[in-house]
Amino acid sequence: MATTDTPSQHSSDGDSLNASPPPPSDQACDIQQVMCSFLKQHTAYDVLPVSYRVIVFDTHLLVKKALGALVQNGIVSAPLWDSTSQKFAGMLTVADFINLIQYYYTHSSVEEALRDIEKCELAHLRQVEKQIGAPAPQLLYMDPMASLYDTCQLLAKSRAHRVPLLDKESGTGMEMIVSVITQYRILKFIAVNFQESHVLRQPLSELKIGTYKNIATATMATPVIQIINTFVDQNISAVPIVDDQGIVLNVYETIDVMSIAKAGKYNQLDIPVGEALAARPKNYPGVHTCRLNDTLHSIFRTIRKQRVYRLIVVDEDNKLVGIVSLSNILGHLVGYKKDE
Ligand code: AMP
Repeated sequence: MATTDTPSQHSSDGDSLNASPPPPSDQACDIQQVMCSFLKQHTAYDVLPVSYRVIVFDTHLLVKKALGALVQNGIVSAPLWDSTSQKFAGMLTVADFINLIQYYYTHSSVEEALRDIEKCELAHLRQVEKQIGAPAPQLLYMDPMASLYDTCQLLAKSRAHRVPLLDKESGTGMEMIVSVITQYRILKFIAVNFQESHVLRQPLSELKIGTYKNIATATMATPVIQIINTFVDQNISAVPIVDDQGIVLNVYETIDVMSIAKAGKYNQLDIPVGEALAARPKNYPGVHTCRLNDTLHSIFRTIRKQRVYRLIVVDEDNKLVGIVSLSNILGHLVGYKKDE
């Protein structure tokens, strides 16, 4: 079993996100109102670290080289630049590799796939999408000086996990890729800078954020390709691996697909996920779990300390109860309703 790290385990190490006044007696304190006002006072640019680098790929770069560069730099996505039109050309993300895997699994032999990947340019990935009938990725971007509130709204509506920040040179109108802002980075910014932690004290059981019904799960014996198909069919980025009692043993994530693509193991898609998990890198951070009585406050404390993409909600026996994704948290903070 992967190491678990629950917010509840951290809840004893001091109980404040930041120095915060005692909770007001009025429980009706409106988290969205306070949070939106905070987010409107900051820009996307504020979230960027003082020093950072941006890795951008030319669309003529070979897929194989791009994969190598992603892995070498410890990143899972990068903005694309079309040097012919001198324009931003979208993001290369794990979804592109999932499309590639699905395409080769259904259309050709492994040998052909590997041969193709050797000579396929990033620009070609858009053709693969068309061939498998996948929707063309949205060309999302944000002005670096846009408010953090607008950035969160865009992320919530689009269900994107990240959005590139694009500036335009005054005069020439030439586009410049400034950085990429992720859900995690925004939530970490909130975790570090948001002072009014008293509005974060409601437990998940009352907040009702996350998904608690029809959760897609797998067992250790489920073939990897079946989970990859579930990612696509349900537009989700992780599937908890449970035993026959519903006890959470692990999580298979879209990011895990990168290792398959990198190793060119397109012939191993039928192996049980348990085998694929055993080959995970040793530095895999582990599965983050929480309980229904955890609060956003305790979740933010975890986010401040560790890179978290989702929390698996479990009961006292470690049985699966639900999933709280960063998109659920972000959507809740800005009052985003799915049908708006
Ligand atoms: P994510 O892709 O993690 O941003 O999640 C997108 C939405 O799908 C969120 O509402 C999650 O709560 C939900 N979700 C995530 N994983 C699963 C899963 N395995 N089964 C059902 N829903 C999920």
